[in-house]
Amino acid sequence: MSRVLVVGSSVGGSTAANTLRDLGVETILLERDLNYVKPCGGAVPPRVFSDWDLPHDLIDRKVTIAVVCSPRHYSEFPVLSSHPAPETDFIAMVRREKFDRYIRDRAVRKGAELIEGKLEHVEFGPRGIRATYEDKRNKTHIIEADAVIGADGAYSTVAKSLGLERLPMAVAYQERIRLPAHAMTYWEKRAALYLGDDVSPDLYAWVFPKYDHVAAGIGAGAGKTKAARQLLANLKHKLRDQLGEGLSVKFEAHHLPMHPRKHLSYDRAALVGDAAGLVQQTSGEGIYWAMKSGEMAARAIAKHLDAPTAANLRQDYDAPWWKAYRPTYLFLAFLQRISYNGDLQREIFAKMCDDPDVQRLTFDGYLTKHIEPAPWTVQMRITRHWLSTAVHEWMRQQKEKTSSSSASSG
Ligand SMILES: Cc1cc2nc3c(=O)[nH]c(=O)nc-3n(C[C@H](O)[C@H](O)[C@H](O)COP(=O)(O)OP(=O)(O)OC[C@H]3O[C@@H](n4cnc5c(N)ncnc54)[C@H](O)[C@@H]3O)c2cc1C
Repeated sequence: MSRVLVVGSSVGGSTAANTLRDLGVETILLERDLNYVKPCGGAVPPRVFSDWDLPHDLIDRKVTIAVVCSPRHYSEFPVLSSHPAPETDFIAMVRREKFDRYIRDRAVRKGAELIEGKLEHVEFGPRGIRATYEDKRNKTHIIEADAVIGADGAYSTVAKSLGLERLPMAVAYQERIRLPAHAMTYWEKRAALYLGDDVSPDLYAWVFPKYDHVAAGIGAGAGKTKAARQLLANLKHKLRDQLGEGLSVKFEAHHLPMHPRKHLSYDRAALVGDAAGLVQQTSGEGIYWAMKSGEMAARAIAKHLDAPTAANLRQDYDAPWWKAYRPTYLFLAFLQRISYNGDLQREIFAKMCDDPDVQRLTFDGYLTKHIEPAPWTVQMRITRHWLSTAVHEWMRQQKEKTSSSSASSG
């Protein structure tokens, strides 16, 4: 019987293992550390629960109010799509320790064989793959399979075994802070993003609510790892009135790939989630994309178990993936360039968040995972608003510069 090795049992790998078992494929799920908890903000769109039939009791909080805060502007608005529906118009907050385990346990209940061990490398041959892993007692073992799914995250050993280079990485630092009940009330339904050189020079900082604590974190682009701790300290200082009474319960840090790999599939191998670089650059959102790619890669491999060549897998995984999602990746990468880099862009971005058209388009895209061009009347309205905001902000900044230079010369 054919079998598939899935490396990594986080969201991407466990979703792939569930799909493979649904399709009757013998599946081995190899996980380096069964107690590992992925550092993560844990924000997911509710469609994750309907798409993969997950119970809502995995949700800690339902965020219905979004906050975007630049150095000069504060925007607060409801999480509402173009077709408002209370059962889907929210951002779900999950804890990865609970969420990932549920999906992994379900794959095991469906018959996936779970092994705790660290993949060392994979050899690819004409008749199959040979994976070497080390168990907790440093004993080496071999697994033979027909194909492998690399769901082993940003530092993927499967990608390395394929001879691929490491992707450029951003870094994210996060602290979980337990708040007294009265301080938690403010965060019950709110999630906030903060823009500014002091907290994140090229991405953003966030506070997301969990069941009895908040996760406060910062993202920083390539080469800024050393500054990351200071940026997080700045965020906490900035929010001292809201977070000051809190108790720090956990500190987490991890890299995020900054762009997708050229190919997702290779001979007898497919990469999913962070291993494939499928995180969204603007938002750092990766859970949905890891799960969706895990599912699609598993379907493609199950279909081509007799010949899992790069050509076959690219036809049934890479091609439909990019057909469905390329516009989303391109649009969000463009948004990052025009929104986060520099004070002018950040102020325009935060002010544009007050615009109901922008709010609806943002949540339509986030909640449905499809970016549709807006009707031309809406596009015209947004363009007009963007231009007037940009001119207004630019003039304000020029005025500020002139008055500060005349003050210093006087
Ligand atoms: C601080 C931070 C905050 C984030 N916040 C959000 C958010 O709010 N919402 C969102 O959608 N995304 C968020 N992300 C991104 C999200 O966490 C990732 O995109 C997502 O976890 C990717 O899932 P994955 O299954 O591809 O890989 P991972 O979750 O990274 O899992 C990889 C798995 O592979 C295992 N593994 C690794 N190497 C080996 C090996 N050699 N052998 C065996 N097993 C191995 C690991 O132990 C792990 O279980 C955040 C990321 C960070 C760093």
